[in-house]
Amino acid sequence: MSANLAEEASDGSEESEPETALETAKRQLARASAHVDIDPNVAERLEHPMKVHEVSVPLRRDDGSVEVITGYRAQHDSVRGPYKGGLRYHPEVGRDECVGLAMWMTWKCAVMNLPFGGAKGGIVVDPKKLSTAEKERLTRRFTQEIRSAIGPTKDIPAPDMGTDPQTMAWLMDAYSMQEDETIPGVVTGKPPAIGGSYGREEAPGRSVAIVTREVCDYYDRPLDETTVAVQGFGSVGANAARLLHEWGAKIVAVSDVNGARYDAAGIDVEKIPSHDTEPEAVTAATGVGTKISNEELLELDVDVLIPAAVGNVLTEENAADVRADLIVEGANGPTTFAADAIFQERDIPVIPDILANAGGVTVSYYEWLQGVNRRQWSLERVHEELDEDMIAAWESVKAEVNGGDLSWRDAAYVVALKRVAEAHEARGIWP
Ligand code: GLU
Repeated sequence: MSANLAEEASDGSEESEPETALETAKRQLARASAHVDIDPNVAERLEHPMKVHEVSVPLRRDDGSVEVITGYRAQHDSVRGPYKGGLRYHPEVGRDECVGLAMWMTWKCAVMNLPFGGAKGGIVVDPKKLSTAEKERLTRRFTQEIRSAIGPTKDIPAPDMGTDPQTMAWLMDAYSMQEDETIPGVVTGKPPAIGGSYGREEAPGRSVAIVTREVCDYYDRPLDETTVAVQGFGSVGANAARLLHEWGAKIVAVSDVNGARYDAAGIDVEKIPSHDTEPEAVTAATGVGTKISNEELLELDVDVLIPAAVGNVLTEENAADVRADLIVEGANGPTTFAADAIFQERDIPVIPDILANAGGVTVSYYEWLQGVNRRQWSLERVHEELDEDMIAAWESVKAEVNGGDLSWRDAAYVVALKRVAEAHEARGIWP
């Protein structure tokens, strides 16, 4: 997930937040385990994170005062390779949220067949209330606090909500200075000038678009007859909307934190700057369609709904009112467990986050490979390989859907869980 999605919070997500990410992740795991012939001891192991690091980070504010801020790095599973996952700066970051998100990273990497496990970290801070200098000091000191837990073969952070390539550059620099050598592989999602991959920032949105294209094809919907509503215009939402628009779909609604714009005739999404370039540009674009609320966007009568802002926006309260025929998850965890059950009952396919937005971590893997080889790939190569890897993952999930009468989420979990369980069974648990 990319930078600044914290800005994209949809209205109402807090009041109606019935589950934590950890609760949802655990329930999803229990549900998927029932469809996999998994050793119960391995299933028990996977319910728990391997390690959760909690650190106190002193931050010197620009006025000279010192504030002590809590940070986390949750490491869920590393049986298939180093821990991998984003680092978010958000006032509501918590231990359980990091553990739940780390679990999702384990499945996301496995569904994409990447040689990584799952992690997620965060700092309990509102990045909008920090100056650039404060953000840099906080990132450097946090890096120092978690330095022994991370590393290019141990745990590799990446951007997430409220962090961006610049944050990764500071993290890499602080780590490298302390280790006394330049170590680009300690993070992904850094600027290309220091070993970042071309196409990394757009990758989660690109994969959402690829998966939307495939799912429309699966349900016999030509893209040029498909209407799409996208919640969130950060890197995920904006890139998904732009690509789908380019491929012929009609984007009828987009949103930012202040509300949404709707035009049944279609919105020229190229004309609206994404959040990273100009925050809250959607609602500022007064000439575009009519203004509606974020809740109304979720309930529009469209072919495809892409929630690409924050978690827990599709809940027990609004799931019955969603009128989209298909849902493709751009954000991590936008659908609560209860809402998922309602969509299943209503026969609305939900393509899960761990597949749809997995382009981010997949291009992170390419970035890590480029670091190991000290050789940069062209943007064309990144696009080609991503398309290939997304199709391969899509095909494995589709095979489970077709073969087992499973929902798309359960099928993606089954693919991931089989791979993770097989690795655990081969290595053994060493109790
Ligand atoms: N934060 C992103 C995600 O949730 C990417 C993680 C990564 O590239 O390691 O998928």
